[in-house]
Amino acid sequence: MIEHFHESDLISVLTAQPIDRALDYKAPEGGCMTGAFVEVPLGPRKVLGVVWGAGDGGYDISKVRSVIRVLDAVPMRADMREFLSRAGGYTLTPMSAMVRLATRSPGLGDPPAMQTIYRRGTGEPDRWTDARRRVTEALDTYGGLAFTLKELAEMAGVSTSVIKGLVKQGVVAEEASPRDTAYPRLDPGESPYSLTKEQSVAAQSLTDGVATRTYGTTLLKGVTGSGKTEVYLEAVGACLAAGRQALVLLPEIALTAEFLNRVEARFGARPAEWHSGVTMTERRRAWRMVGEGGAQLVVGARSALFLPFRDLGLIVVDEEHDTSYKQEDGVLYNARDMAVLRASINGAQVVLASATPSLESWANAEAGKYRRVTLTSRFGSAVMPELRAIDMREAGLPSDRWISPTLEKAVNERVASGEQALLFLNRRGYAPVTICRACGHQIGCDNCDARLVEHRFLKRLVCHQCGESKPIPEKCPACDAVGRLAPVGPGVERLAEEVQMLFPDAKTSVLSSDVFGSARALKAEIERIADGDADIIIGTQIVAKGHNFPHLTLVGVIDADLGLQGSDLRAAERTFQLMRQVAGRAGRAEKPGTALLQTYQPAHPVIGAILSGDEEDFWKAEAAERKAAGVPPYGRMAGIVLSSTDVQEVFDIGRLLASKREPLSRIGAQVFGPAAAPIARIRGRHRVRLLVKADKAAPLQEALAAWVAQVKLPNNLRLSIDIDPQTFY
Ligand code: ADP
Ligand code: ZN
Repeated sequence: MIEHFHESDLISVLTAQPIDRALDYKAPEGGCMTGAFVEVPLGPRKVLGVVWGAGDGGYDISKVRSVIRVLDAVPMRADMREFLSRAGGYTLTPMSAMVRLATRSPGLGDPPAMQTIYRRGTGEPDRWTDARRRVTEALDTYGGLAFTLKELAEMAGVSTSVIKGLVKQGVVAEEASPRDTAYPRLDPGESPYSLTKEQSVAAQSLTDGVATRTYGTTLLKGVTGSGKTEVYLEAVGACLAAGRQALVLLPEIALTAEFLNRVEARFGARPAEWHSGVTMTERRRAWRMVGEGGAQLVVGARSALFLPFRDLGLIVVDEEHDTSYKQEDGVLYNARDMAVLRASINGAQVVLASATPSLESWANAEAGKYRRVTLTSRFGSAVMPELRAIDMREAGLPSDRWISPTLEKAVNERVASGEQALLFLNRRGYAPVTICRACGHQIGCDNCDARLVEHRFLKRLVCHQCGESKPIPEKCPACDAVGRLAPVGPGVERLAEEVQMLFPDAKTSVLSSDVFGSARALKAEIERIADGDADIIIGTQIVAKGHNFPHLTLVGVIDADLGLQGSDLRAAERTFQLMRQVAGRAGRAEKPGTALLQTYQPAHPVIGAILSGDEEDFWKAEAAERKAAGVPPYGRMAGIVLSSTDVQEVFDIGRLLASKREPLSRIGAQVFGPAAAPIARIRGRHRVRLLVKADKAAPLQEALAAWVAQVKLPNNLRLSIDIDPQTFY
């Protein structure tokens, strides 16, 4: 591979524009490197691209245009280019879309800039006010750190004029600094705790892995509260000490605050953050510093995998079973699998941490592809909660009540003794269905085959597919009857009403992503609850994800059967994981916890497995069933969704594809469908699915590519291929 090109050499550039191939350009004055970020002319526009190698020369050289300029950023490294190519090949994603993932830095084309920042000065103010005190407190909290005017004003909750006033008096110092500065050094130091025997063995195994400087994946399995985080932070420490960079992926932004505090307590400073809640300025800084080596540790969401690490030595995927690691639109990738791919290219270690691993990871550990490290007991005096089922067939509740007398009694006991109870219901909104009592009509979305969900908090009916919403109507859209529309079934908002009625004196908090205007507000509420400022928490699945509520001793699962409905091949696995995770929220500190599962099918094998706590047995049984059916992780699958506004057209093309299955038959793969997708219409587009099943070892991607290439798709038709689909909708 040629690494440096001279002026006018023919080079090949990949852009983020939806074009299926690299384009040829002439290298600019001064030449350029392979991997350089460049600006190139494309038609009348200037677009961003990456130099991918030598041009192929198939064009009239006199017509080839020149690169406009080389951007001021570290060129994309060879390992990143390989990662993009292989990840694109695996997910059958065009390279332009992969390049887009890797160039998500705001202001990538801008020159390094200066900004004005503010830090604590030496002066004292002529007089103190509350607002002034908040400013100095904010600055003192973060030691020597400096902030922009806007950040500081926001942190202190004051107007910018208060800060300007303090600058005049020398209380706050104002200085110019380069916009993108290195993150404060983290000190690998040593754990502030003495690890238990089991924890040290686990930590040693992980740090040994890091020391090899080669690829390896470890499944770190341990019940909630067993110290998995503590243990993998040891591996992070070892990685930093070895001078390499580390990445910790978390499934939920709301979890980062707690985690950042732990990192700061452990390593003495805060790491770089990368997720949708981070400001543009910070994102730009993170992207650049990761590339220049000015960030040792990144904590982020799945897209952090595409940051330009200089020397990545460790990737931790926390709560690795979490479904949010699968990106469900645009590029359909699973961050857990891509972390393994990236690490294998970089000679890095992967730690997959979970109390309830995905069956995929469990099977890889069984097969010896991953190492397995297990923490069996909770730290300290905390013990696993006691799990019991409540048989709802015997509860005799009216149709608009969901809390059984047994659960009610348990909640009362906990609240009376000053502890917290969590009621878990994985349904946002007030009621999942709104029905007309006169004609039986159920209100649906105009654009999708989905029922509208009443959100009383927002005073609207909302489509959970496309997000469309409308005011709650007075009369039935089908029969015009007035005042006959009624909610059916519970959502968390409706459950909150029942709670209010049953426990009028308890302080209640509803934790549901849509009730909070921002990730920040949600974060604040979670912190409030952790401090004990709520008696009863009502939550959707965001509460299942690793938050630490020390006062929580009772978890009530309102509908343990909810996830068991439906034909998803992962329904049992998901229910098992979610119930175990939710139950794991109870009794994390000194007080023992109880989890009560309300169910109409107490004899269901999954409910039985959850209650018995015998995880290995559950995995083995589930694995045997999947093996027999030849489905993941013992077989391969790809989901193909065709969508179009023209219903005839989607079915026609679907049938045409099904009839031309020869490239797939050749590798022994089966094609199912076309069939209307479970949600047959989203945003006005009709959807048709095909499902491809193949042996584990079959070269599926090549065959899929050859298969779809046979059919010319009409302009208005979209085809998406989902390798290893996680959901079927
Ligand atoms: P997990 O990630 O498995 O849920 P954590 O690492 O968050 O577990 O540990 C649970 C709690 O126990 C945390 O508050 C953690 O700081 C504490 N803890 C874990 N191990 C130790 C230890 N060896 N000494 C003191 N505290 C510990
Ligand atoms: Zn809709």
